[in-house]
Amino acid sequence: MERREFWFVVGSQLLYGDKVLQTVDARAKEMAAELSKALPYPLVYKATVKSNDEITQLVKDANYTNGCCGLVAWCHTFSPSKMWINGLNTLQKPYCHLATQYNKEIPNEEIDMDFMNLNQSAHGDREHGFIAARLRMPRKVIAGYWKNLDIQKRLSEWMRVCIGVQTSKNLKVMRFGDNMREVAVTEGDKVETQIKLGWQVNTWAVGDLVKEMSAVTEKEIDDLFAQYRTSYDIATDDIEAIRYQAREELAMKKMMDREGCKAFSNTFEDLYGMQQLPGLATQHLMAQGYGYGGEGDWKVSAMTAIMKSMGADGNGSSAFMEDYTYHLVDGQEYSLGAHMLEVCPSLAATKPRIETHYLGIGMNAKDPARLVFEGKTGDGIVASIVDMGGRMRLVVQDIEAVKPILSMPNLPVARVMWKAMPNLTTGVECWIIAGGAHHTVLSYDVTAEMLRDWARIMDIEFVHIDKHTIPQKLEEELLVKDLVWRLK
Ligand code: MN
Repeated sequence: MERREFWFVVGSQLLYGDKVLQTVDARAKEMAAELSKALPYPLVYKATVKSNDEITQLVKDANYTNGCCGLVAWCHTFSPSKMWINGLNTLQKPYCHLATQYNKEIPNEEIDMDFMNLNQSAHGDREHGFIAARLRMPRKVIAGYWKNLDIQKRLSEWMRVCIGVQTSKNLKVMRFGDNMREVAVTEGDKVETQIKLGWQVNTWAVGDLVKEMSAVTEKEIDDLFAQYRTSYDIATDDIEAIRYQAREELAMKKMMDREGCKAFSNTFEDLYGMQQLPGLATQHLMAQGYGYGGEGDWKVSAMTAIMKSMGADGNGSSAFMEDYTYHLVDGQEYSLGAHMLEVCPSLAATKPRIETHYLGIGMNAKDPARLVFEGKTGDGIVASIVDMGGRMRLVVQDIEAVKPILSMPNLPVARVMWKAMPNLTTGVECWIIAGGAHHTVLSYDVTAEMLRDWARIMDIEFVHIDKHTIPQKLEEELLVKDLVWRLK
């Protein structure tokens, strides 16, 4: 994997003369170096471009450089936009227009026409903005002084979005078994998905996994068990159940790594030859950045891997989640999210406990070991990707996660409790109107704006339910969007 970086390109033209262009070049170098200190990935100054050929060549280089995750463009001076058309038309990387200015203030005494001609982002960036609008390019526009923390934060988040784009375009999903029988929302058009999102979604036999499991050595299990002991509290006497989960984890990881897969799905309906539904095994794989979806849900699995990659250090606080049950007491309305076993410990408020419990559903010959914990508090989102027939729709809802208001001592799974926006019941109405699934990715560090940017780049529909959403307006929005997406 080449180093991940972003390219900074400054637009100009030849008529300014060498002196002005040298100043622009020096300042752009300084800005990229300064910004790189505040950003999660390096911003590399490439060139001050002045002609059609120069721009086209730079875009070609960007397209063929795997480590280049996106272009950030800015016009210090005026850059006539017809010279950008050929380049932008061939651009295959995410594109951000940073409408900024080198100087913060207009210098009262010093300002003259030379100053004006050097510092003309105000109209240079408008010319540049027009051509992207005219080309109907997906783009992010960020305007403001480049040293402002808020601008740097937005640019940082956009970079993380681009990492999500790169993850998506290279993602391979390993399916063990098919979808849970008769379930609709976990289905989808895999060919259309690969065309739009890049995901390679393919199936491997559970029998192959069982074969891989039997080849795992006791030494490998000892080593992984030691890791479990460091990361988690062991709250069961059934050590064999934990070791069995380690065997499952090692086998799944080997198969995924061999095939280059960063996400997987399985189903409790197809565990032939396995004694336990993978619980702890799946949870510990998710903690390492692998995406997962239960009941064959490859879409939520892929989204989990993508959103994890957008988080801190490329493995943030995002996880497969399922809306399970509601607390509908007036003034205390919450959704309780969990899954049969598989909730990622990146959501945990405290050190997770390894427990074993009976699991009635599925074909478990033994009580599966799993991690049990409460989720963190804080603002977050839940996201669901659904196949509307001909296109994907990404539904995102703002949430506020709370410390669970009940102790639930007999609940044998990890749990997160949250308040949906704008409130629980209206939020549920909006979610159902939009067709959002029961499976979601819950995230504490990917924002709705980031997923809006991601959906724009991937060219799929985006629906956001926030504190202002009302069901009637949402219905109208969906009607219009449905029309637009059928025409596209
Ligand atoms: Mn489920």
